[in-house]
Order: sequence, then C-alpha cells, then structure tokens
Amino acid sequence: MKVFEWKNLVDEKGCFEAVSELIDRIERSKLNAYITICKDEALRLAREYDRGNLKGKLAGIPVAVKDNITTKGIRTTCASKMLLNYIPVFDAHVVEKLKSEGAIIIGKTNMDEFGMGTTTETSYFGVVRNPYDLDRVAGGSSGGSAAAVANDEAVLALGSDTGGSIRCPASFCGIYGLKPTYGLVSRYGLIPYANSLEQIGPMAESIEDLALILEVIAGRDERDSTNSGRDFIFREEKVERIGIIKNMDASEEVMNKFYEVMSNFEYGEIEFPSLKYSLASYYIIAMSEASSNLARYDGVRYGHFSPFLTSWSDYYSRVRAEGFGMEVKRRIMLGSYALSAGYYGKYYLKALRARTLIIEDFKKAFAKFDVLVSPTMPSLPFRIGELKDPLTMYKMDVNTVPVNLAGLPALSIPIGFIRGLPVGMQVIGNYFEENKLLSFAKIIEENI
Ligand code: GLN
Repeated sequence: MKVFEWKNLVDEKGCFEAVSELIDRIERSKLNAYITICKDEALRLAREYDRGNLKGKLAGIPVAVKDNITTKGIRTTCASKMLLNYIPVFDAHVVEKLKSEGAIIIGKTNMDEFGMGTTTETSYFGVVRNPYDLDRVAGGSSGGSAAAVANDEAVLALGSDTGGSIRCPASFCGIYGLKPTYGLVSRYGLIPYANSLEQIGPMAESIEDLALILEVIAGRDERDSTNSGRDFIFREEKVERIGIIKNMDASEEVMNKFYEVMSNFEYGEIEFPSLKYSLASYYIIAMSEASSNLARYDGVRYGHFSPFLTSWSDYYSRVRAEGFGMEVKRRIMLGSYALSAGYYGKYYLKALRARTLIIEDFKKAFAKFDVLVSPTMPSLPFRIGELKDPLTMYKMDVNTVPVNLAGLPALSIPIGFIRGLPVGMQVIGNYFEENKLLSFAKIIEENI
C-alpha cells in the first residue's frame, strides 16, 4: 500500500480502525514477516492521531522496523536466540526520527540472524515466505521488512544493507529498496554486523514514499562518527548517461527481462575488471568485522544466559554454542581465522587492497556515466531450502556487494514479473547522488 492510499483509508475510517485492521492482517498472515508486533503502542498512537495529537511528515503512517535496529522498551533480537530477551534502553537514531515525525512503529521485522544471509532462512524465528509464492523465500536479510510492505502489512519499512540485504528482498518482493551512501543515515542503534559496509535504508511501494522516509531518517548525528552530516531532500534531476555493467551476473531469463526494459533507453556499456574480486573481498571483510563485533555476546552484560557456570572460558563457549546459529558460528570462525597472526596479510589486507581496486573502477565509471545499472539479483526468488551450501548462497550477492565495498548508494527497482515472480533492476549512483537514482526510477516507472 502506498502512503496516499493509506491516507485515504484513514480519512474514510479513522486511524484507529485502519491500524486495528492492519494488525489483524499481520496476525492472520502466513508470511512470518514480524518477530514482534507493537500492538498496544500502535493502537495508542492511532488514537492520538484521531484526536489530532500526532503531527509530522509521517503522522499516522505504520512503519515496520528491522529487528536489528534498537527500539527503547521493545525487544530487539537480531533474529538470534542470543538476543531473545534483549530490551534496549535506547532508540536508534532513525527510530527517534520516525517518532519525532509522528510515525507509528507497527512492529519489528524478521531477518537473517544478525543480517547474515540472503534468504531469511538463518532466522531463529523461521523463514519469511514470499508474498507471490509461499514456497519461496522473500530474500534477505531484510526479508520481513520487504514482505511486510509488499503484502500490505506495513506501509513503509526500514531495513539494513551490508551486502545487499535491502536490495535483494526488495527485488524478490517487487518493491523499492534503497541502500543509501555510506554516512548518509546514522548507524547509531543499528546492531553491527560489519560496520564499514552497512547502512540503514528505506523500503516502499513508490518512489515518493521512499523519498519521504529517506528525508526523515537522513541527516546529522554526532553519535555515529562516520555520519556525513548531510541532509537529504528529494529533487528530480536529469539522468542522461546510463551505463550497463556488462559483467554483472544473472540467469538468461532475468537478463532478458532486464534488457527488455533497457531497450527503452539509450545506454553505454562498461566492464569492471575488479568485479571478480568483489565476492571474496566482501566476505573476508564482512566476516572479519563480524568476528570482532560478535565478541560482545558473552552472556554476562546481556545476551543469552546459561546457568552452568564452571570456568569463564567454558561459560563463554557454552553461551555462544547455545545462543548462535550455524551460519553465525561459521562466520565468526572464518573471520577470526582471516584476522589471526600469519593470515592477516594473506586474507584481510589482500581483501582491503581488492576493495580499493573496486572503488577505482567505480570512480572511472562515474566519470563517464550518471548511473550504472544491472539486474539486482542473478535469479528469481529461490524455493525455501533450495540453496543448500553456504558458498552457493554467497554467490547470489555478486551484483550487490561491490556497492557496499565502495560505499555507494544503490536502489532496487521493480521491473515486472517472470512466471508470476518479481524481478528487480539495480541502479547505482555516485556518492550522495540518491536523487539521480530516484529520478531514474521514476523514468523507469513511466516506461514499463
Ligand atoms: N547476504 C549478504 C551476507 O550474508 C548480505 C547481508 C546483508 O546485507 N546484511 O553477508
């Protein structure tokens, strides 16, 4: 549902009634998009809206928030058993912003455990189903946010994107999802997976709606040292030079759909020599940062608690053995290995060098083009359980991870369906050129 459709609904029946119906819909849904529904608070705010007491750019609009973004007094689990009972004592910067503009936080959405995955299958709370086919995944790791928006279980949503986690589920669920430029949106209150790669970003059913919520969440925050201090204001811009990244990957049917849409435009082509390094570089960097970030879960200060206290080191092992899922454990081990003495230069430093090559390739490309395009995902939404081994899963991020390595903004645009399943196009812009991406998306919207 788009924001204007929600507003019509509210005019017709009042916010309280509209929110009650939305919550009913969530409770009856088969998608498993939510981990926690904020029923009482959402209904209280809806009543406030009806009394004329809730004001702001997002007043009375239900927003879903990924469960790795902290919400004061509301359980925030990262879809992990480790944080099953974690109730933050503070709001993330983006949550403060949403509240200050009158948004109604409707619930916390399901995701891959700590954001580690591409299908939401690593969630402790079970997989999120695709609204277009219940036997298929909604994508990941922000699968719950995407499915909620696509299935009218929220009007807007926030996700986070470390290597594609907003764009992949947006593509699989047929909606818009934007990974902003690194530093545009404060990460204060985003429970970290890989700090140097990730950003919080919006998901919506229209460009206007995406822009509206981005305007609210972007901007200065001293509590995130990597925050750029820039605001975002939506303004349409000319997009003239379009470049297709030729060596990005997709199945034949996805490629055909992509070129069918692109045939409406004049475009140039470009090849990225460094692209072949991006998956290896991304996974080494992401896992290294994850291994360090996840060391905080010791079952002492917070997190899963195990009653069998023998020695400290036994205690830590037990807490982590019980609290983390398989994929998280795998990444902690691989990351610790990549950072260990003797291997640091061989893996981590090499990955950083490859990262620089990728940044250089993008620099060259943006000297020639305003935006770069590719299919978002190399295939249609997978069947649940289809991707059996981790490496096959990692390979699905081939088109999305280069963007995070370079810190650039990228948007997934829905471009139609194949056999009833949504297909997404990725458009990448230069630093802080989100407006070019949104403007390009508008042209696509008008052309298909
Ligand atoms: N699929 C990628 C990973 O598992 C990206 C996840 C994300 O962006 N959080 O690391």
